[in-house]
Amino acid sequence: MVKENLAKVEKNIIAACERAGRKPDDVTLIAVSKTKPVEMIEEAIEYGKKEFGENKAQEMKQKYETLPKDLKWHFIGHLQTNKVKYVVGRACLIHSVDSVHLAEAIEKESEKKNVISDILIEVNVAGEESKFGLKTDETEELIRNIAKFPHLRIKGLMTIAPYVENPEDNREIFRSLKELSVDIKSKNIDNVLMDILSMGMTGDYEVAIEEGATHVRVGTGIFGERDYSI
Ligand SMILES: *Cc1c(COP(=O)(O)O)cnc(C)c1O
Repeated sequence: MVKENLAKVEKNIIAACERAGRKPDDVTLIAVSKTKPVEMIEEAIEYGKKEFGENKAQEMKQKYETLPKDLKWHFIGHLQTNKVKYVVGRACLIHSVDSVHLAEAIEKESEKKNVISDILIEVNVAGEESKFGLKTDETEELIRNIAKFPHLRIKGLMTIAPYVENPEDNREIFRSLKELSVDIKSKNIDNVLMDILSMGMTGDYEVAIEEGATHVRVGTGIFGERDYSI
């Protein structure tokens, strides 16, 4: 089932790229494997998938230790400073930095491990109260405050759009995140790249790609519904 789903999602990604006049190689599909067992991830690996997304620090660490070392792990969940140690040096990209405090903790741990950590800034474009992430108009200031950290590299922006029945309802949110990234890029802040836009999940990744997503995070569409009761 995992392999068939991956093939279907990849086909949809190619079609969305065609509609938008983009190259499929410019879009990375992150298979969000949170809560899913190693056996299912192994099926995806057999298919050829190498990039996975996890939202819990210890779960990511454990899967990282268990599975082959040539995989790439994206940390996509809210990160508490006391869990930073599990993620730094293991995640290829931390998608969810939304405070100076967290950035400082990642900087310290990266210095200790002698690595450079690639990060994204999480923006709560929709302004949903229940979600983490910065307000759009706070983003540039945070970026300026953490751009000077020598062990961090700010690669772009991430957003989690609301759950909607009709993916078109999120188009404006994806467009706003793209606009914000173009705006920040134009300021040429040292150490700030803005070439990654992580947006779009199972329900709306095609619209996100049409609006410029470089990384889509798809869980349910690949691994099926998650069961949080067990
Ligand atoms: C769980 C999760 C996803 C994947 O969601 P699906 O709707 O299952 O595709 C994507 N991004 C983040 C940040 C998540 O926590």
